[in-house]
Order: sequence, then C-alpha cells, then structure tokens
Amino acid sequence: MRVIFLGPPGAGKGTHAKMLAGNFHLAHLAAGDCLRRHIRGETKLGAKAKDIIAKGELVPDALVNEMMEEEIWRSRSMFRGFILDGYPRTIKQGEALDKYCKKEKFSINGAINFKATDGVIVERLGGRLACVQCGANFHLKNIQPKKDGVCDKCGGELKQRADDKPETVKHRLEVYHKESEPLIEYYKSKNMLTEVDGDLALNPLQEILTKIFESYKAK
Ligand code: AMP
Repeated sequence: MRVIFLGPPGAGKGTHAKMLAGNFHLAHLAAGDCLRRHIRGETKLGAKAKDIIAKGELVPDALVNEMMEEEIWRSRSMFRGFILDGYPRTIKQGEALDKYCKKEKFSINGAINFKATDGVIVERLGGRLACVQCGANFHLKNIQPKKDGVCDKCGGELKQRADDKPETVKHRLEVYHKESEPLIEYYKSKNMLTEVDGDLALNPLQEILTKIFESYKAK
C-alpha cells in the first residue's frame, strides 16, 4: 500500500502516519524528519537545508526529490509500502513522483488531504515540542512526555522547533497555501483524493483513517 498525506503543517499528518505505519507495516517517509536527520548528521544536504527550514521556506525541489526517491528505494525490502508525509509539497515534486512511480513500476493508492483551520494549526504548533536528539514529537497538551522536557524514547531534551515559532508558522502557512495547496486539485483531477477533517481529535480521526487504509487494502 502506498499513500500520500497532504495538508498544512500541524494538521496531524505525522502523528497519524506514525500510528498507521505501525499498524499496517508501512514505512513512514516524512520529508521534514528526513531533512532534520540530515541537519543533525551534518551532511551536505543538511547544510543546504538548515537555514531554509529555519526561515520556513521550501528546500529546492531537486534536492528533496532525490532524497525521497532514495528513501522510497531503501524502504522497499523492509516494508509492505509507505506513507509519504509532507512529500510532495509542490506540483513539480508531484510530477517528479509520478515519473519515479512509472520508472519503478508502482502506483500510489491514494492521496489523503488533512483539512485544518489556521487557528487550530497555530495552537497545535505553538505547543509542539521535539526531541533535539531523535526528533520525536510531543505536545504540551495533546501528547505529553512522561517527564517534563525529556523525550520518552531516548531521554533527549525536548525543545520547541525554531520553525514552530509564531512568526515562522505564519510564513509556513503562506508557503503552504501558495505552493502546496494546488496539489489538492492535482490529485483530485487524477481521482486519487480523499479529504479528512484535520481539526478532529486524535482517536476519531485515526478511526476514519484506518477505514480508508482498509479500503485501499481491499482493492
Ligand atoms: P515538516 O516537518 O513537514 O513541517 O517540514 C519542515 C520543513 O522542512 C518545511 O517547512 C520545509 O522547510 C522543509 N520541507 C519538508 N518537506 C519538504 C518538501 N517536500 N519540499 C521542500 N521542503 C520541505
């Protein structure tokens, strides 16, 4: 099964993708997580991406396409498919993904768009905390760590991401509306789009998404 998650930052794509990937034995391929791994690992790509991400801009298409093709390729032997989270984020990336699917002879089951209102997004991102060591996400209200300020998974320090500061979130939303929103129409015109309400709480939305994944599996 191969699924694309579309939607603004803070719509819950990453949280839901992690849960569904575990339940359906899929790779969770999150472009933002991958880029942050490159930054932590001090790779060439990480050096190029660091300032762009901090400003809330998009990393150039060619760099992200190459990185994600490598991620898809590497996941093939270990998983029954993948969830692409935060990729594609531009029409150019969508076209590159189509080309890659054709070349590697696989298809995508569907694209799920997480619709979320700007107010909910600002609240969610304002309370989000990320582990500086492993990148795991927590939230001051919704996903609290067992111990304040400490990552449950690796014991690393939890901090607000530089790009989750209110002024950068505002810019990320502008970038989303301009660059990424056109992908909704792109996948709608291919008859691949399903929309879900990203404002919903975790459990009801996870139930809806599980049903959608089951329907993909049945096809
Ligand atoms: P995310 O963790 O998905 O919110 O992504 C964090 C940041 O990584 C974004 O604001 C962009 O700067 C960068 N990024 C993530 N995915 C992409 C992508 N598909 N294309 C370009 N830049 C991306």
